[in-house]
Amino acid sequence: MAGRFDYLVTGGAGFIGSHLCERLLSSGKSVCVLDDLSTGNLKNIEKLLASDSFHFIEGTVLSVETVNNCVDMCNEIIHLAAAVGVENVINKPVETIETNVSGTENILRAARGNNTKVLIASTSEVYGKSWKVPFKEDGDIVLGPTSRNRWSYACSKALDEFLALAYNHSYGLPVVICRFFNTVGPRQSGRYGMVLPRFINQALTGQPITVFGNGTQTRCFSLVSEVIDCVLALMDKPEAVGKVVNIGSTEEITILELARRVREISGSNSEIIIVPYDKAYPEGFEDMQRRVPDVSRLIGLTGIRPEADTTAIIKKVIEFGIPEGVQ
Ligand code: UDP
Repeated sequence: MAGRFDYLVTGGAGFIGSHLCERLLSSGKSVCVLDDLSTGNLKNIEKLLASDSFHFIEGTVLSVETVNNCVDMCNEIIHLAAAVGVENVINKPVETIETNVSGTENILRAARGNNTKVLIASTSEVYGKSWKVPFKEDGDIVLGPTSRNRWSYACSKALDEFLALAYNHSYGLPVVICRFFNTVGPRQSGRYGMVLPRFINQALTGQPITVFGNGTQTRCFSLVSEVIDCVLALMDKPEAVGKVVNIGSTEEITILELARRVREISGSNSEIIIVPYDKAYPEGFEDMQRRVPDVSRLIGLTGIRPEADTTAIIKKVIEFGIPEGVQ
């Protein structure tokens, strides 16, 4: 039986989710969002609320009843709801593990009832401190000890992946798993630690730009609109079912160079300061030194990949400005 909505987007009021909803609506799809507004924000979707094709439910993926009701209304699921951001993970370890593990379990169980296709959002964090760059989906993952709760995030998302693949193998549930690398763009908040909105906000308000560690660690930044192109392309490919797929840019940049570029492009006079890890994070935090995706599987399946270069991305985010009240 066809549901009332084409898509259920959990976490649809968040940064990536709200961009995804905009895209789906503008391509004529109907969308139901389930979001508990913990890190999501109604402001992100306020323009969508007036649309007849859009329905917002404030609720948590931890409620089995809510999840079942939402899943029953929709034809496909994009499950983005998760505890995100380094600060959240460190400060709210119980919520992080429960939301990521039980929330995904609830979604998969409900999806199985109707054999609904599910895309599960995972993360490059899953690779942990693997040094085998670029990261391939079938490469080993290397996590730190359970006494350091920063690894609970990676471990909880890895468990989501195991569970989704098990539903696919055991019950034939159509699942696709995406590992997102650093995704940035308009509306992203720096409140939960994300580096690019933090640097831009610091540059635009004349505060020091805080480079943690020595700044030689690298990341690859991709633009949210291009990440969404990839998500939707994967959702449409039957060959992607039962697979884990990296989504990210392969342009690697050091965090110090990112700070310099933000400063230059914004025309800011902010000083760039080095903040040692022990001042930036609670004791025992381990940062990833390099994080680069291998995107051959993504290209093989969809023919596309995030391509925007870092300078163009920084310009775009600066042009948009940093959301109000965001530090
Ligand atoms: N970072 C930084 N200054 C900040 C925030 C983050 O130097 O104000 C660094 C952080 O230590 C990491 C990189 O930027 O090396 C990316 O951090 P983010 O939290 O954005 O993403 P992730 O670590 O999950 O890739």
